[in-house]
Amino acid sequence: MSRFPFAARPLLLGAMLSALGACASQPPSAAPAATSSIAVPAIQRPQGETPSWWFRSGAAQAALASAQANAGGQRAKNVIVFLGDGMSIPTIAAAHVLAGERAGVDGESYRLSFEKFPFSALSRTYETDQQTPDSAGTMTAIMSGVKTRAGFIGVSQLPKRQDCAGSRGQQLVSALELAASAGMATGAVTTTRITHATPAATYGHLPERNWEVDADLSEAAKTAGCKDFAAQLIDFPVAGGLTVAMGGGRTEFMPAGADDPEYATSVGQRLDGRDLIGEWTSSHPDGKYVWNAAQLKALDLTKTPRLLGLFEPSHMNYEHERAHDKAGEPSLAEMTTSAIEVLKRNPNGFFLMVEGGRIDHALHAGNAYRALDETIAFADAVQAALEHTDPAETLIVVTADHSHTMTFAGYAHRGNPILGKVIGKTDSYGGGSMTVMARDATGQAYTTLGFANGPGYTGASDWQAEGSKRFPHNPGEYSPIRKGRPDLGDVDTTDPDYMQEATVPLKQETHGGEDVAIFATGPGAAAFHGELEQNVIFHVMVQHTPRLRAELCRLGSCNADGVPVEQSNWQHWLKLASDAAAAPR
Ligand SMILES: [Zn+2]
Repeated sequence: MSRFPFAARPLLLGAMLSALGACASQPPSAAPAATSSIAVPAIQRPQGETPSWWFRSGAAQAALASAQANAGGQRAKNVIVFLGDGMSIPTIAAAHVLAGERAGVDGESYRLSFEKFPFSALSRTYETDQQTPDSAGTMTAIMSGVKTRAGFIGVSQLPKRQDCAGSRGQQLVSALELAASAGMATGAVTTTRITHATPAATYGHLPERNWEVDADLSEAAKTAGCKDFAAQLIDFPVAGGLTVAMGGGRTEFMPAGADDPEYATSVGQRLDGRDLIGEWTSSHPDGKYVWNAAQLKALDLTKTPRLLGLFEPSHMNYEHERAHDKAGEPSLAEMTTSAIEVLKRNPNGFFLMVEGGRIDHALHAGNAYRALDETIAFADAVQAALEHTDPAETLIVVTADHSHTMTFAGYAHRGNPILGKVIGKTDSYGGGSMTVMARDATGQAYTTLGFANGPGYTGASDWQAEGSKRFPHNPGEYSPIRKGRPDLGDVDTTDPDYMQEATVPLKQETHGGEDVAIFATGPGAAAFHGELEQNVIFHVMVQHTPRLRAELCRLGSCNADGVPVEQSNWQHWLKLASDAAAAPR
């Protein structure tokens, strides 16, 4: 079977696209009309894998998945994308066990908010240049429908990294940008800096994810006209900017040397002298800028047309440390609820992206506790969204950008603490029913959660048996290992600061390359099934949201059936959006 089986069947695909429905006026039950097909060329690597090919193949896969699920008639008014950064399937599984333990109920069968969604799929996350991806290229795929290279934000795979001049003309239109020019409200909410890769991919375009503040840009990039993400957020060219933006990264918006309101040790970073917060407040006199939890709580959201929240100089605190924050920070759930209350005032609907951004950071640090705790806080934010939106008109998609190396292993008995040492049952081996500490080949206890690599490496010292091994190898039986791992006998591995063991020593644990999950509910959610390339997520969202789809058609992206199949040009989007803003709507 070819990699994209539908590619060989353009006529069948054409019928499926037709069944999806051409426009909002066509009733869902209408008979398929005679139709043109999307021609998806067979992959000819590497030349065939163009940005435009990625867009068309993503559109075709989304249309096929939708037709298979008979979801063509389902139309969303609002879209919320929840992005758990690095939220691998083992992370979700371990987090739901911990959430159940905390609730005093059975952890193994406990379900986080999004694990109760009716539809799910797998997402294949590789980038055009990396087997195991980063957050920049993956979020660009989700937001623009086109896979690209690691490190790239809202830019196609064609230029070289950091080639500012070469990236001009290669910007990809994001779903949030389409929503803004279509008259919908727009929002981005995160626990990281609002200029970090994931949120930046909703509004920004640069061939370098690290250009978050102007101080980070090379002179060559500045000369070639590239602008940092903080400035891109405040200068967002359509609809007066994003309706809501909340997260960390405050000092990237402040001129160099300016005092941070919360910490005496923090100062503004901008070398261009711009006070982006001041610019924002003066250009939005009725908008509200807040930098701590009390200010956010005090707002009358029914009278807040626009909201900017910058709650920390850099990333926001982990949920575990949030209560100790100096000025007080809102939770991700509180930010999500506030964002929705502001966004839902727009009768045209809204597009919102919410990131649980520090799941990834805790995993890089080899610390399972915070990763699970952040995942639970993320699930609470999804629950808050469910409680503040109408399920009949809101498509909610929960996914991750990439995996990590955390493993969930060993034969612990049902109910064993997820952060604990593996305790098995003797009757699993035909003995009496007693629980017993599992032991490795050296007689040592071990934990259920561990990492393939990262800072938790405990060997490479006087302890570790050295040298590589050949397969087959059965430590403890044919090749005794007497030393190596730490004695966990007196170690409380459930302590929030315990660092799980890692096999390969790395300063930072890495991402993983296998699939992540997609969970979905609401109109169009049924199209999420099977295994999808990550860029298909964008196409399912726009194909099932009439306003987003109509906006792409207005940009000239649609085939005769009104299905967006051609990649749109960002400059063209900008011009049309500006013209529309100048003319009365
Ligand atoms: Zn990461």
